[in-house]
Amino acid sequence: MKIICRSDHPTIAYAAEELARCLKRVTGSAVEPGCCCGCDEGIELGLMSDLGLAPPKIADPVLDDVVFVDVKGGGGIIAGINPRSVLLAVYRYLTELGCRWVRPGADGEYLPRLDKLPPVKISETPSYRHRGVCIEGASSVEHVTDMVDWMPKLGFNGYFIQFREGHTFFDRWYAHDGNPYLEGKHISAEEAREFRDKAVVEIKKRNLLYHGVGHGWTCEPFGIGGLGWEKDESEQPAEISQYLAEIDGERKLWHGVALNTNLCYGNPKVRDIVTSEIVDYSAKHPEIDIMHFWLADGSNNHCECELCRDTRPADLYVRMLNELDKKLTAKGLNTRIVFLIYVDLLWPPEHEKIANPDRFILMFAPITRTYSEPFATDVPIPDPPPFERNKLAFPRSVAENIGFLRAWQADFKGDSFDFDYHMMWDHFRDPGYIPVSKIISQDARGLRDIGIEGYVSCQVQRSFFPTGLPMTVMGRTLWNRDIPYDKVADDYFAAAFGPDGKLAKGYLESISYLFGPPYVRGETPKVCPENAESLAKIGGVVDAFLPTIERNIATPPLPPLLRGGMKNLPPLQRGGEGGVCWAKSWFYLKHSAHICKLLASACEAGARDDKDAAKERWEATKRYVQEHEIILHPVLDVFFFINTLGWFFG
Ligand SMILES: [Zn+2]
Repeated sequence: MKIICRSDHPTIAYAAEELARCLKRVTGSAVEPGCCCGCDEGIELGLMSDLGLAPPKIADPVLDDVVFVDVKGGGGIIAGINPRSVLLAVYRYLTELGCRWVRPGADGEYLPRLDKLPPVKISETPSYRHRGVCIEGASSVEHVTDMVDWMPKLGFNGYFIQFREGHTFFDRWYAHDGNPYLEGKHISAEEAREFRDKAVVEIKKRNLLYHGVGHGWTCEPFGIGGLGWEKDESEQPAEISQYLAEIDGERKLWHGVALNTNLCYGNPKVRDIVTSEIVDYSAKHPEIDIMHFWLADGSNNHCECELCRDTRPADLYVRMLNELDKKLTAKGLNTRIVFLIYVDLLWPPEHEKIANPDRFILMFAPITRTYSEPFATDVPIPDPPPFERNKLAFPRSVAENIGFLRAWQADFKGDSFDFDYHMMWDHFRDPGYIPVSKIISQDARGLRDIGIEGYVSCQVQRSFFPTGLPMTVMGRTLWNRDIPYDKVADDYFAAAFGPDGKLAKGYLESISYLFGPPYVRGETPKVCPENAESLAKIGGVVDAFLPTIERNIATPPLPPLLRGGMKNLPPLQRGGEGGVCWAKSWFYLKHSAHICKLLASACEAGARDDKDAAKERWEATKRYVQEHEIILHPVLDVFFFINTLGWFFG
């Protein structure tokens, strides 16, 4: 069998390598990569334009993907509109053959063994333009590169490294903050830049869209460090403090955090310094495909001086965006700029309007929303309440959030995506990962209805514990918004767990249901006998399921000779190469089961108003995850697990 690469683009060459690697294991026979002139037998790989295929009319061939597959037996075509699309097309083809990637890393790869390759014909454009993941949590460079490697396998197309070098995220991991059982060491900004560069190599290898920066433009241009949210109580010299937002008559760092400190945007000098810095940085970093320009983090922290007080923050922001656009245009830079609709900036401008919408992408970040409701437009959508400087309350209901988005959309008709947090905090409140997967499915479907062109998920990178279901639902539904949740879930459990996958699904549904995410979200009363009864049942559910887990961990992969006798089963249920992948899934499920028991007993004590027992049992839960971080770290972000659930236990 031969693979004929019709391009010398490195991403297409890599796509050919990946195809050869996987087909070799699927067919058990040799696959030769590389060019094979004069030979007609083989799979041709390349851009649609190079292979004589007419691409469908799409808006932007750099940002948008199109895949085309027509393979029969050992010959045919795998093509894409751009190099990234060719790689996505290879993974789409392999997915049709039954290959699955249930979590990042080699042990998450399930490749079936097939006697004969079935014919595959696909011509697809994904439902959404933006399908990305953003770095958050505590992350080693390998956690990031494993995620980047996994993403295109599920149809994602972009990766976002926040800040200039993502220092705070890398540092949390390498310092092992919050885990006394692991010895760590803080890293320098220079080390973070090395990690970032390694991640960028992997992003570029796959031709993914590289999003960069975001926060930091309000500090770095003024010589104030903005690597993370650390407190710095030192006074700023007058030549800097004159540019900071004046609140309650003072110009100083907002609660001592530079990153949370807004500036006096009514001052033209401030706007000039910030926008010039973005232009310089964009010119120096052409590798960043999509540049994020956000104001400070935090809320109710805008300037009250004479220049600012009568103008909404959003008006000053849009004024700055227009000034930035002019400067970029003058320099001949086509950099795409993301602007952020978030906290105080949810209130749209009253007067200013974005002059060149083609330059900009609206990023809607409903950070205060609930995950108990999906994006939907079949409920009344209210108008935003009046703007009251530094006295704003932020919307929790999804309908209110959509109301703010609509107010912005009235004047901005350009590109957009949702920047959301399902997998940042909320998934820890759903230890079975079922409702969180369902809400991701509904939200991904609903984005189109609210006029949004995709999703970049701000999240911990290790978000595959107990399963990779939520991330799989995210990838597959952003690709095809019409795919039903159950179809993805049934397929996922069969791929990740093998023949007993259905049992694992049923078990996790019980776990999720008994925990009740709205309770762990703090949306229902904390002391509640009814919830205590539910939580009390979790230990029994776990104990009843542990023998199934143990049996599956103990079962070695089926020996090759037995495979012939299983031909009548669908590919995913054959022995194949499921061994390591399945065993690892059961291994993680076993640790999750122990954690669920501990966590449920802590929550139950809380629901019965026994604060001391709740605290003691939460400490035991914490200790378990800390002690096991060394084996669970590829799938579980212990730092955020403890921070998120620690909040629930006060
Ligand atoms: Zn001001």
